[in-house]
Amino acid sequence: MRLISSLKFIVDNNVGKLAKWLRMMGYDTLFFKGSDDSRMVSTALDEERVILTRDTQIMKRRVVTSGRLKAILIKSDKPELQMQQVINDLNLDCQFRPFAICLECNQPLLERSKQQVEGQVPPYVFQTQNQYVECPVCHRIYWRGTHWQRMTSKLKKFGEYQQKENSDGRI
Ligand SMILES: [Zn+2]
Repeated sequence: MRLISSLKFIVDNNVGKLAKWLRMMGYDTLFFKGSDDSRMVSTALDEERVILTRDTQIMKRRVVTSGRLKAILIKSDKPELQMQQVINDLNLDCQFRPFAICLECNQPLLERSKQQVEGQVPPYVFQTQNQYVECPVCHRIYWRGTHWQRMTSKLKKFGEYQQKENSDGRI
């Protein structure tokens, strides 16, 4: 089995939705906001990140065609199909690690006790949730609310789909 836990990504702005999904899975993922492809490529090289893009020009660069830099050309314009392609192409494990990385700014999250978040989360959340994490940069507090559940159930579906493909021997 391939060691995939050390994979890191840089997501082009034409496939920006992938950043949150990958962070949800616990992957260190940069979102490239600029328009200068060369900068994205050099960051990817420096930090050993896989490029995810819909830009065919990037795929033609020598650094990519020679295999020095890994880039994946995303085929679909639908975020869910894009995510499915990344999972399949890289054979990613859908055992995601929620609460590892801030979905907004890609920082490792820190555990917080219930007492520490009192007054910072809605009262009904405080009453029903016991586990919290906080981003040290943007100070967002995360808990297992409905948004989180929606995202994780989608990720689980990706995993089930992948297993089905595997057992059919198609890949
Ligand atoms: Zn943050």
